[in-house]
Amino acid sequence: MREKMVAGNWKMHGSLVDNKQLLDEVAAGVDGLKEARLAVCVPYPYLSSVQDALRSTNIAWGAQNVSQYEKGAYTGEVSTSMLKDFECRYVIVGHSERRTLFGENNTIVAEKYLAAQRAGITPILCVGETLEQREAGTTERVIEDQLTAVIRLAGIDSLSQAVVAYEPIWAIGTGKTASPQQAQDVHSFIRTGIANENASIARELAILYGGSVKANNAPELFAMPDIDGGLIGGASLIASEFIAICRAL
Ligand code: PGA
Repeated sequence: MREKMVAGNWKMHGSLVDNKQLLDEVAAGVDGLKEARLAVCVPYPYLSSVQDALRSTNIAWGAQNVSQYEKGAYTGEVSTSMLKDFECRYVIVGHSERRTLFGENNTIVAEKYLAAQRAGITPILCVGETLEQREAGTTERVIEDQLTAVIRLAGIDSLSQAVVAYEPIWAIGTGKTASPQQAQDVHSFIRTGIANENASIARELAILYGGSVKANNAPELFAMPDIDGGLIGGASLIASEFIAICRAL
């Protein structure tokens, strides 16, 4: 059976002092939890200290973005080999905040996804629709386009080394969660679409839900057949919440 996963997305939050306290608490709270993959995706400057803090725990770490370029004159960018220097196992690509606030289109996201995989880092590929798109009935089209761009560039087999996160944009940071059934419907759409090309890859692919997941709604979301865990923003910054969400798996 496919592996479940909970990943924290700290976004642009944290400080050296706060991170240490948070990670100490979280690591103690999830100690011994072996059934699922656990990870935190942190701001670049904290990778070194997070690596130190988590090295001997069951929590992996990663980044929230990466350059599609290998090296060169790209001021402000961070490459996959730099993430490898800090033993990042994961990197989030195509988060909706990157897409909407920083102009990352499907092509750029696909290039980042491929760059991560080439470096041996597992991309957590985010897909999701806006409220307008949902209301216009184009949710499936939008998500299909987002996935197709990646599959076209990296191939369907690449999904055996990836995690997909469905994050409806209208549910991110809004306190408005997709209902378990709404999320399940999209997860099932994603899995079925991939199964049409390769059934065994679809079966093994972890598809996480993200968007206002909290300790109190995680159990019913994670109980859905095609929801394999969560990508957690705000609640990953509160030790007790994040621990409870990990344990809900
Ligand atoms: P949220 O963010 O849990 O704060 O809604 C999720 C995400 O953006 O990954």
